[in-house]
Amino acid sequence: MQIVRIFSLRPVLLLGGLLLPSALSLAWDYEGHRAINRIALAALPAEFPGFVHDSANAERIAWLAGEADRWRSSPDLPARHCNAPDHYLDFEHLTLAGLDPATISSFRYEFAVQYAQGRAAHPESNTTTDPEKNADRTRDWAGFLPWTITEYFGKLRGNFARLKVLEELGTPDEIAQAKASIVEMMGVMGHFVGDAAQPLHNTMHHNGWVGANPQKYTTWRGFHSWIDSGFINKTQINLKRLPARAVPARLLPMDAQGDGRDPMFQHVITYLQAQAALVEPLYQMEKDGLLKADRDPVSPEAVAFIERQMLVAGQMLADIWLTAWRSAAPDPFLRGQLVRKKAGAADKSAPAPKKSK
Ligand SMILES: [Zn+2]
Repeated sequence: MQIVRIFSLRPVLLLGGLLLPSALSLAWDYEGHRAINRIALAALPAEFPGFVHDSANAERIAWLAGEADRWRSSPDLPARHCNAPDHYLDFEHLTLAGLDPATISSFRYEFAVQYAQGRAAHPESNTTTDPEKNADRTRDWAGFLPWTITEYFGKLRGNFARLKVLEELGTPDEIAQAKASIVEMMGVMGHFVGDAAQPLHNTMHHNGWVGANPQKYTTWRGFHSWIDSGFINKTQINLKRLPARAVPARLLPMDAQGDGRDPMFQHVITYLQAQAALVEPLYQMEKDGLLKADRDPVSPEAVAFIERQMLVAGQMLADIWLTAWRSAAPDPFLRGQLVRKKAGAADKSAPAPKKSK
């Protein structure tokens, strides 16, 4: 069921001819996000921990694909301030702040400083949104999507690092709790990987083309939600058959690249850039009339585009999950704790040494 939201569109403000990043946009509907998490599950190799495929866990992972959008309905402004920019990155706004995706920090807060300084250094390209129109103070940010995905990867890898120790030294209850945490993390992070595969989540042209428009692309502000779900629903693309087309997950290299940035962050940036490169082709498809739902037959090119983006997201998500599991080294801190705990328990249960007279 589709939930009607008070901010189903992400408006771009044009103040004095300047473009501002803004916050309010959803990506694929729940059904689309759910399909992406299901595709990722289908792409996992047989040796991946099997508990994720237990029906209750697989359903939980699928359900959590929509969780981060549910958070966006919060009336609490601090929660919206924190969550909304996690769903996108408008690459053009990096350029307007004089930043290069090839060198921006993989640390979220360090990047936030870089971005704020870049905006201040380029006042001709950046202006500040009227606070009256920016209640949750999100509109002057370019978005934090690649940091969000990278941070969830780190959390998931930590979960696997602890599970590996607990399976050796923990109690059945501790193992069950660790598995539940993994299911939660896998499901929630899937949302953000899915968002990135909607090309309009990587551009300031997220709700129709803005600014100079020599190609005369659509400025329709409903374009984003048409790609998210309108076209899919009208043409009845069968998302349930996509997991059968999943290709096996690949391990992402986690060797340092030499520039000091986090390896996963660099994989994620590359992934987002590949989707951003599809922004103009997507607008071109619209211009060519291929995204009309009343075409008879529906454009196979348009259907293939939507399906491919979901498969790409599912593939990347499975790659990240697989890499988190494979590359997780058993948590040494937890291991030390459990070894000491077991040694202490052994001491207490050992019979007291007999005293000699
Ligand atoms: Zn989202």
